[in-house]
Amino acid sequence: MIPQTKAVDITPNWQQELANAIHDPAELLNRLGLNHHTEVLTAAQTRSFPLRVTQSYLSKMRFADITDPLLRQVLPLTDETLPAEGFLTDPVGDNAAIKSAGILQKYHGRALLLMTGACAIHCRYCFRRHFPYSESNPLASQWSQTCAAIAEDDTLTEIIMSGGDPLVINDRKLIQIVSDLEQIPHLKRLRIHTRLPLVLPKRITPGLLDLLRTTRLKVVMVIHANHGNEIDLQTATALGQLREAGCELLNQAVLLRGVNDNAKSLVELSERLSDAQVMPYYLHLLDKVAGAQHFDVTEQEGIAFIQQMRTKLPGYLVPRLVREIAGEPNKTIIA
Ligand SMILES: *Cc1c(COP(=O)(O)O)cnc(C)c1O
Ligand code: SF4
Repeated sequence: MIPQTKAVDITPNWQQELANAIHDPAELLNRLGLNHHTEVLTAAQTRSFPLRVTQSYLSKMRFADITDPLLRQVLPLTDETLPAEGFLTDPVGDNAAIKSAGILQKYHGRALLLMTGACAIHCRYCFRRHFPYSESNPLASQWSQTCAAIAEDDTLTEIIMSGGDPLVINDRKLIQIVSDLEQIPHLKRLRIHTRLPLVLPKRITPGLLDLLRTTRLKVVMVIHANHGNEIDLQTATALGQLREAGCELLNQAVLLRGVNDNAKSLVELSERLSDAQVMPYYLHLLDKVAGAQHFDVTEQEGIAFIQQMRTKLPGYLVPRLVREIAGEPNKTIIA
């Protein structure tokens, strides 16, 4: 008898792709057909917040273009090391807002769960790049304590899964976490802030879709796309599956110098989001975190971009320009 050969899927699964993420700036440049640039930091110079990028995200970058808007988001530059007045390690007062094990609450009715410190890619503008994750990771040891704290506060109607990126946690653990949250009667909504549909679309597994489809909680997923090129066919397919599973899809972008600092690029982003059934939600002014000063765009420029977007798009595709001001009871709407 001739043994039957099974069709073998040779593409790595999401966990393998995550494990194979690129960490060395020299390798990243090489893969893009670029020579080493003196303004790029080396692996040794970025140990506290290393380069990290997945194959999926890399594949959306333009070849041999050091100014590519996706590359700019992950490429560590010597600019990060320059002193910059007013740029801090904890720009939005996160350390002061830690309520109990892994819970960050600043606003009425909704609390943020810091589920993990890990992400699939490292965004150089990240406002949590200096956050002491190891000291406030609820899943490490204190999950029952975290749950008890949520159960005790019946003003909470929404839990926001954040991190890090909460979807780097595997399906088995997520199912357990969501099932514990479902048992808290005052919770109505589950919000997931993640970049994984953009940077690791394979993460949207049948198991995850089942969980999102069957939970009694209303699921809102906020993806963090900053540029239209982040939405390719794989990502659009993953987003379509999430919509079919009943998720409300929103986008939150950060206004970033060299990435999306012009109205044309922002209009294009809104159009691509709309094609993928995602509604633009917020356009954030940069949180002034140390090391990200080269991404800063002024408030005046941001307002001008929004005004130009309004002349080009239906109102519902224009995001709200916001800034987070530490101590305020909500995000501050600028335009
Ligand atoms: C930004 C943020 C939220 C969400 O605010 P929305 O305006 O509801 O999107 C919630 N909690 C914390 C701690 C935040 O930083
Ligand atoms: S927390 Fe979000 S912005 Fe920060 S590195 Fe992770 S994915 Fe990027």
